Amino acid sequence: MKLLVILLFSGLTTGCRGNSSHSLPPKLLLVSFDGFRADYLQNYEFPHLQNFIKEGVLVEHVKNVFITKTFPNHYSIVTGLYEESHGIVANSMYDVITKKHFSDFDDKDPFWWNEAVPIWVTNQLQENRSSAAAMWPGTDVPIHNTTPSYFMNYSSSVSFEERLNNITMWLMNSNPPVTFATLYWEEPDASGHKYGPEDKENMYRVLKEVDNLIGELVHKLKVLGLWENLNVIITSDHGMTQCSKDRLINLDLCIDRSSYTLIDLTPVAAVLPKINTTEVYNRLKVCNPHMNVYLKEDIPARFHYQHNDRIQPIILVADEGWTIVLNKSLPKLGDHGYDNSLSSMHPFLAAHGPAFHKGYKHSTINSVDIYPMMCHILGLQPHPNNGTFGHTKCLLVDQWCINLPEAIGIVIGALLVLTTLTCLIIIMQNRLSVPRPFSRLQLQEDDDDPLIE
Ligand SMILES: [Zn+2]
Repeated sequence: MKLLVILLFSGLTTGCRGNSSHSLPPKLLLVSFDGFRADYLQNYEFPHLQNFIKEGVLVEHVKNVFITKTFPNHYSIVTGLYEESHGIVANSMYDVITKKHFSDFDDKDPFWWNEAVPIWVTNQLQENRSSAAAMWPGTDVPIHNTTPSYFMNYSSSVSFEERLNNITMWLMNSNPPVTFATLYWEEPDASGHKYGPEDKENMYRVLKEVDNLIGELVHKLKVLGLWENLNVIITSDHGMTQCSKDRLINLDLCIDRSSYTLIDLTPVAAVLPKINTTEVYNRLKVCNPHMNVYLKEDIPARFHYQHNDRIQPIILVADEGWTIVLNKSLPKLGDHGYDNSLSSMHPFLAAHGPAFHKGYKHSTINSVDIYPMMCHILGLQPHPNNGTFGHTKCLLVDQWCINLPEAIGIVIGALLVLTTLTCLIIIMQNRLSVPRPFSRLQLQEDDDDPLIE
């Protein structure tokens, strides 16, 4: 009897524990190391990041959105939208109707951000959940009148350690619990601009520092007991390419400055004509063979960069590694913003946690696919978006997925089985039908007769 009571009691407590751990909402930390070009992973050593990947998943290339700049791409990751749809179409913008200006130093007006709903707002509107941000473009702005419950005003002088301390504190001690959090760091973008990605010596040093920060992040999560239950995504907004003083496009050689206003300069220039648009277009069109010039209505559809008032009437897109200037010398040795089909513009994505497989590698997804995946992990209803959840299914433990090599293997396997079965059936049929003529022959009376007489 005593034994029965003990068994019953232990069964009940186990059941309760099981239920309570099951009802804990999933948590996700989204980390961005700005300007982390995808192939840095192949060309440099990242012991800490490789350990993280070994126990999680890696997407080798993330196809990001055009233009491949910081603010637009960070907003695409958290909304799943192309730039024309979320409205952050550049780091420098001008709205002709309201006459408002936007720049990375003047980005606090919600007007610019309100065309979309970022995931931290959606998460926050869920019952008993809050969001936190140790910086990420837009997290210090009241978008749809909502900031994350915990956030830091952007300042590049705040150390990584302080950002990490804040975000882990909020993940541990908040009520309602923080279930979605972001962490942003300016490197290796700043050094990529300064030295250029082909400066192996300096980039080696900078990327080693970035890897050490990843080591610190993982160590801190483990020490605080957050590691096992927290989903962590490490990704970036764009890559970086080498520029050169021998690859300059000087607009002043082609057109007088008084005939247009330049809203954004390089490598995608946004031009607002002051005189007849066709005249400005015709002069720019023949300016330099290393620059594509588009009237807004002719911007290629693959850029998904047309249907927004903040996109100017003419845009100029420099070829990879070329810099558009106004009669100046080369401003940076490395840059990004170019065509998003260039692999040098792509970042990577790595992820670890209970939602993700362990030791799985995937070739490519789109940056807009990250949003529906994050909504799935957090159990949020996504807003309409340009991403495809199916593209990320192979990364997730709770999804059934089949990739192309596996599909080919299954088809070939099935064909082999079918062929073998068909052969077996034919052989069996032949065997069954063979004895009849022999038996008839053996029984024939004239069998002993010579065949030829
Ligand atoms: Zn940059």
